[in-house]
Amino acid sequence: MYGYSGKILHIDLNEQKHWAEEKPEEWYKIYIGGVSMASRLCWENIEVGCGPYDPGNPICFANGIFAGTPVPVGGKYGLASKSPLTGVLGDSLSGSWFSIALKRARWDGVVIHGASDKWIHILIDDDRVEFLPADELLGLGTHETEEKIREIFGDDQVRSATIGPAGENMVRYANVTNDGRQAGRTGHGAVWASKKIKAVSVRGTYGVTVADPDTLLKMSFDITEVAQGPHTAKYRIYGTSTNVLNANKHGFLPTNNFQEGTFDFAELVSGEYLDEHHKVKVIACAQCPIACEQMSMVKKGPYAGSMTGIEYECLQAVSSNCGIGDMTAAIRMVDISDRSGMDTMSMGVSISFAMESFEKGVLKKEDFKCKKYPEGFEPYFGNAEAGVTLAEMIRDKEGIGALLAEGTRIASQTLDQERNAETYKWAMNIKGLECPGYDARSLKTFAMGLAVGTRGGCHNRSAAYDPDIKGETNRFTVDETRGEVAARSEEYAAVYDTLPMCKFIRRCFTGKADRAGAWPTIAELINATTGWNFDYDDVDLIGVRAHTIKKAFNIREGWKQEDDDIPYRWKHDPMTRGPGAGHVVTDEELEYMKQLYYKAKGWTEEGLIPKDLLIELGMDDVAEQIGV
Ligand code: SF4
Repeated sequence: MYGYSGKILHIDLNEQKHWAEEKPEEWYKIYIGGVSMASRLCWENIEVGCGPYDPGNPICFANGIFAGTPVPVGGKYGLASKSPLTGVLGDSLSGSWFSIALKRARWDGVVIHGASDKWIHILIDDDRVEFLPADELLGLGTHETEEKIREIFGDDQVRSATIGPAGENMVRYANVTNDGRQAGRTGHGAVWASKKIKAVSVRGTYGVTVADPDTLLKMSFDITEVAQGPHTAKYRIYGTSTNVLNANKHGFLPTNNFQEGTFDFAELVSGEYLDEHHKVKVIACAQCPIACEQMSMVKKGPYAGSMTGIEYECLQAVSSNCGIGDMTAAIRMVDISDRSGMDTMSMGVSISFAMESFEKGVLKKEDFKCKKYPEGFEPYFGNAEAGVTLAEMIRDKEGIGALLAEGTRIASQTLDQERNAETYKWAMNIKGLECPGYDARSLKTFAMGLAVGTRGGCHNRSAAYDPDIKGETNRFTVDETRGEVAARSEEYAAVYDTLPMCKFIRRCFTGKADRAGAWPTIAELINATTGWNFDYDDVDLIGVRAHTIKKAFNIREGWKQEDDDIPYRWKHDPMTRGPGAGHVVTDEELEYMKQLYYKAKGWTEEGLIPKDLLIELGMDDVAEQIGV
């Protein structure tokens, strides 16, 4: 087979053994790679009904079809497990040299079963697997862990995915880091810690064989040239943080825990401000000619020395969303999160949840006692030092940080039970995953897209904010088109997440980002890599199948229609200022749009998947188990 090895590596931590599983080419044509293949591996290998921290919850890696080839932005892998935050499928992506090393080691995917008694570091050295003690890595930050591993092996070609101290402490939204990039959201780092895995390293020494190297090389060079031109200038110059001012102008910039959508100090936490005052260089994921990550540093003041990559989602979560208009504090908070291996979006929303709980009197100053402030402190919105201190407390699970490390859903349930409070009214999560940086009260298609998302509150998987923001839909109203719009936009995103390719390349094929502009070129890239004969429709089906296997997983784990919901605030509390003022998404509107969406997907009114649809997609065994 070209482009693939045809083999999945299984590692059993209980017995410390490993074996190879061969997969037929047809299986690859259905699941391709990235989040789709990783989700399928979860489907095949999980003990149905097990808890996220049970040994029966496997860690599933799936490589990208273009990893290790010259195809730009194709050096990514997918990672999936049952999520400790949502209790259903958690799927993530990371751009990384790890994926290239894995491809060179000739593994299309890796499934890690069971759990270890002692902290370990797994080395995949081509066909060999070693279970190494992790003692000298424990306590190290994410970047330090990778450096230490390279030092131990004395080999720059060893590439690692690691967890940091937040993962070791089982912060429920801990992530997995490689080359300074994260497989973020949904808490993979905590699942790794439940198995006592500190790091997985790979050394691959084989080549990558593709069907038509000349065509693949020429196409890759052409796309790379375009990718360094005007279509990606926004990402290269300012990075996604330039979205802060745009979101503020349109009134959906999360502010003070999503109470409002406009922030008075937006200029001070904008991509433009970052560029002028803090940017030191731009960096790129492996195999990427765009380079959108703005490495930013604090040069003076109490947070001097903090340095990390900043992008929109992490920036808004710790700045406007916490009322913090101090870029130095925002960089410090992201730095704490990145070095300790936490998902900054979930961390930021957990902190803003605590701030609102304090301002509403549910939490008191004495709840915030810690080593740094033995008498406690007052985390009102805009208190930058409180934001920084809470990030440290969450990382260390110190004091109230231990509760916030559980994420907003569990923190809210706990407070409401113990203090007879109503914090659920401002716990901003969907299925347990903290909401992204778009206030959806005035982005109604997106609100429904988030509600039905298999991963919870995630802008990367839904993408329905795009038609709302571009004005292709009226973002303040609902109508009969919304089911179709949300269904097709999530499938569009799923194509990129499955290859996987970074979506920022989407205008670089023909200048148009839509299906017609991108799918024919993607089909040609797939064919030159694999020797297959994919066309437009086959590419389109990649997204449909990816989304279907994720939904099927959730159904088998007990998904219910009422799980497709949005936070209380978006249904009941209108904003008071900006273009989004006065708008909410009512229960009636949400239910109406959900029905339109289920219909657009070809599902039943209950949101279940008909057997014949699954069989049509080539998922006969899935049809057997969950089809109706
Ligand atoms: S554009 Fe940015 S996120 Fe996308 S692959 Fe390149 S560096 Fe990574």
